Amino acid sequence: MFRFAKFYLNVYKTLCYYTGMFEKLKKFFLSKVLKKKYYRTGKCKACGKCCTQIYVKHYKHVVQDEKEFEKLQYLHRFYSYLKVIGKDDIGLIFECQNLDPVTHKCKIHRTRPGICRRYPQEELFSMGGALSDDCGYKMEPIIPFSEVLEKTAKKKHMLFYDR
Ligand code: SF4
Ligand code: SF4
Repeated sequence: MFRFAKFYLNVYKTLCYYTGMFEKLKKFFLSKVLKKKYYRTGKCKACGKCCTQIYVKHYKHVVQDEKEFEKLQYLHRFYSYLKVIGKDDIGLIFECQNLDPVTHKCKIHRTRPGICRRYPQEELFSMGGALSDDCGYKMEPIIPFSEVLEKTAKKKHMLFYDR
């Protein structure tokens, strides 16, 4: 009996070891090779909220002007679905006219553009956006803030001793 328990414990330890290794490799690949900053976790609850508060980023800026947006509408079919509903400190706010206001479902779900299929992407965060409070997704930092802080503190410490 004791021998069996020891065997299972060893299997468990080996699994933990390889899982830990896998996580480290995954982290390395995402952050150093793909230059990603966030993991996306969770899944969509189909509430439709992200289709009602949209910012449009064109090159390096968020669209602020309706005239500029009119020109963009010819560039991509996604833009032709959007209607301006307001403006805030970030830029113009749009909602998508394909969202059914009663069911909160996308009326073109099967043929929706790639940008909708890939949502939420981390570019959203780099432009100051955020997920809606009850969104089913979460964006978790690949390298936690505490780890970044620790590394920075270590570097400062080393610089201090180098002098
Ligand atoms: S096309 Fe569909 S999924 Fe994309 S923003 Fe519009 S309603 Fe949402
Ligand atoms: S806000 Fe989040 S949960 Fe709701 S439809 Fe958009 S991605 Fe899905």
